[in-house]
Amino acid sequence: MGVMLSVKNLDVYYGSIHAIKNISFEVQEGEIVTLIGANGAGKTTTLHSISGLVKPKSGEITFCGSNLMAIEPHKIIRLGLAQVPEGRRIFAKMTVQENLEMGAYIRNDGGTIEKDYERIFERLPRLKERRRQIAGTLSGGEQQMLAIGRALMCNPKMLLLDEPSMGLSPLLVGEIFEIIQDVNKTGMTVLLVEQNAKKALEIANHAYVLETGSIAMEGEADELANNEKVRKAYLGG
Ligand code: ATP
Repeated sequence: MGVMLSVKNLDVYYGSIHAIKNISFEVQEGEIVTLIGANGAGKTTTLHSISGLVKPKSGEITFCGSNLMAIEPHKIIRLGLAQVPEGRRIFAKMTVQENLEMGAYIRNDGGTIEKDYERIFERLPRLKERRRQIAGTLSGGEQQMLAIGRALMCNPKMLLLDEPSMGLSPLLVGEIFEIIQDVNKTGMTVLLVEQNAKKALEIANHAYVLETGSIAMEGEADELANNEKVRKAYLGG
């Protein structure tokens, strides 16, 4: 096990707004690492810097030995880094199966899509029952499952998840987090960005707390969950 993703001294600006201020963090192979923080702390900006959607002013981002800052976004996916975007962004008018197919479009390993469906449906049986359903008619939780399934279709080495709990009831949040944990147990490395610090700290190995663009605290997830400051600010006392 080694470092799969490393972010060093990252600075991001939107015009004159200094959104990310010299942050550094790492994700080890096989781990779930979470980046928690309030609204506007810079979580999405950090993820977009990694996937190439935002251009940082300075810093280094290395994934499996490749310098991501020098690579175009569509090529970053090919390196094995798949993003599950905030708000899920599924294709609402397509069926579940067509959405999954879209996830496989970047594959060029000659493997069969059928095998991928089986792999995904095994992990997400609810999608199998609904493979012909129009995605826009799925429940919020099912749409989140579909977004995860779609990302898994490209056989990534690592999943970037942007607030998978958003807009879901506590019960569904629990279900989605169980799925993330299951996927991780099969060997998938995960970077999880979350406002729901409680749930994120429950499943993560390592955690970073982002506050107004800076990393305010970091540590083992269970240690942070018991930390007085974290409890007061993020876990409701
Ligand atoms: P949320 O949970 O609300 O998505 P976040 O932690 O993901 O919050 P970001 O979306 O990364 O936070 O935003 C970080 C800061 O950068 C905020 O102050 C935000 O207003 C600002 N910001 C984000 N995108 C832009 C943009 N395109 N132009 C200008 N400012 C932006």
